[in-house]
Amino acid sequence: MNHSDWEFETLAVRAGQLRSAENEHSEAIFPTSSFVFNSAAEAAARFSGESPGNVYSRMTNPTVRYFQERLAALEGGESCVATSSGMSAILAVVLAFLKAGDHLICSNSVFGTTTVLFQNYVQKFGIDVSFVKLSDLGAWQAAMRPNTRLCFAETPSNPLGELVDIQALADLVHQHNSLLVIDNCFCTPALQQPLKLGADIVVHSATKYLDGQGRAIGGAVVGDKERVGKDVFGVLRSAGMTLSPFNAWIFLKGLETLSLRMQAHCRQAQQLAEWLETLPAIQRVYYAGLTSHPQHELAAKQQGGFGGIVSFEVKGGKAAAWHLIDQTQLLSITANLGDTKSTITHPATTTHSRLTPEQRDIAGIQDGLVRISVGLENLSDIQKDILRGLQ
Ligand SMILES: *Cc1c(COP(=O)(O)O)cnc(C)c1O
Repeated sequence: MNHSDWEFETLAVRAGQLRSAENEHSEAIFPTSSFVFNSAAEAAARFSGESPGNVYSRMTNPTVRYFQERLAALEGGESCVATSSGMSAILAVVLAFLKAGDHLICSNSVFGTTTVLFQNYVQKFGIDVSFVKLSDLGAWQAAMRPNTRLCFAETPSNPLGELVDIQALADLVHQHNSLLVIDNCFCTPALQQPLKLGADIVVHSATKYLDGQGRAIGGAVVGDKERVGKDVFGVLRSAGMTLSPFNAWIFLKGLETLSLRMQAHCRQAQQLAEWLETLPAIQRVYYAGLTSHPQHELAAKQQGGFGGIVSFEVKGGKAAAWHLIDQTQLLSITANLGDTKSTITHPATTTHSRLTPEQRDIAGIQDGLVRISVGLENLSDIQKDILRGLQ
């Protein structure tokens, strides 16, 4: 079936499904480690790649394929490789495109574990890593070297919602014969499609909004047939950071409501951010939907919405931030985000605690900073819960 004329919401519900002989309506889960061949000759042809088809679930599995095809359709990519986590998606990209002697540039406000992966582990293998300010194109330009093979950016960033102009960065990166990888975790394809803006590869933590209900860990890499369908897939089949069929099924169901959920998260976050800005106990609110956000216009141009993450600095530093967090009864104290349940986090002592104080300072993670992933509860209950800890 040709889906090229389907709109986003239709693709989110319909793309990628192939019914089995049982004619099931909802996508089937295939919990099998291997697949059976009709003859020795067929087995040989499958193993050599001469005949397409399933061999072993480390490589391909029908439920995982449904998820991959659906996410590829939503991102506007030719190929998708699902992985066991968001971090393993990033690792698979590194293993596919970098070798000793290469150079990687990464924005300095990425997910804390991404910084640790690049700095503590990737550098061990003779790959140089530079960190630059996400929004500063001049800094990206200045960091370019003849051996720069990969540029990695997370936009908008966590937890401060800083952005980069993806199209402008893609142009710059391509002038230097390098690849641009965008971590699209916070916007999801419902709000931003980096491949259409010139990025070469998109990575996801499916754990967050793609699932949307905090149930499973997973990730994905999306891009063209050659780089993702061949190069990243080649890493996956040998290194084995495979997504389980059950988790793939959870993410498939998540994608079906992605558009609706993202609209609701955006609406709630906007209202919460505007309200927080009026409270005297709060020093500063970080949300790209506010006109006070320095990159509000770029966000409005580049994204179909401002997302569900609101961060703010409370007056009184870490003690005041911890007090606020400890007084909540509704919000969950957990580092996960992108859930229907609102979550509250103190980035400096949790998600960003493995960074050095200098790295935290560069990333703008102050001691009074609190991050809320705004869920789908009634907004007035969320507000009441926050007020309790500010009094
Ligand atoms: C959570 C997260 C990751 C890592 O994903 P896991 O599924 O936890 O491995 C990567 N990037 C961003 C932006 C994230 O929020």
